[in-house]
Amino acid sequence: MLSERLEADSLEELEQLLEGCQRCPLWSDRSNLVFGSGSRDAQLMFIGEAPGRAEDAKGLPFVGPAGRLLDDLLAGIGLTRSEVYITNVVKCRPPGNRDPLPEEMEACHPFLARQIELIEPKIVCALGRVAAGSLLGKTVQMSRIHGTRLNGDGYFVVPVFHPAAALRTPSSMSALEEDFRNLKKYLQQEEVAPKTVSREEPEQLELF
Ligand code: SF4
Repeated sequence: MLSERLEADSLEELEQLLEGCQRCPLWSDRSNLVFGSGSRDAQLMFIGEAPGRAEDAKGLPFVGPAGRLLDDLLAGIGLTRSEVYITNVVKCRPPGNRDPLPEEMEACHPFLARQIELIEPKIVCALGRVAAGSLLGKTVQMSRIHGTRLNGDGYFVVPVFHPAAALRTPSSMSALEEDFRNLKKYLQQEEVAPKTVSREEPEQLELF
């Protein structure tokens, strides 16, 4: 993934940088760009794949049926939306609700990466296969990795089934509920994820 560094010291500045973004073709069909919402100090951050029709209309993430299920799942572990942060891998709606293309995710990745840096969550929960693959940088098999705690860059990545998939496939609903209980357990653990050593650090160390 592209590791472009964006000049934004706050979520507000980052959102301003995104205004009118035309870095990938998804800009042409959007009604509203969906930046994200929630607590800027969230310990738990959720990342879905892309805005859908309802999100595009309102400019907010997870406002349709999948969003209502997400609210219920959060309530089940004693949390509300205002205590977490929710966004997507891409900030504009793909036509026909298709998966975002690799080049679209690549174009939008610097914004997501900076969002994560600014919020500094303990856990990033990837909602669905596309978000999990984007965060982990590889194709994933959700049936194998859902609910597990994996190392990100200074945060843990926990992939879970997408709420929309659970609504379509009731058999994955109980797995999703169990994975949310795991999320609560992971949040309560004191352990923090290791941060990847940047390429500059070894050079700095040699100076001393
Ligand atoms: S999806 Fe991201 S990169 Fe593409 S136009 Fe929207 S904000 Fe820009």
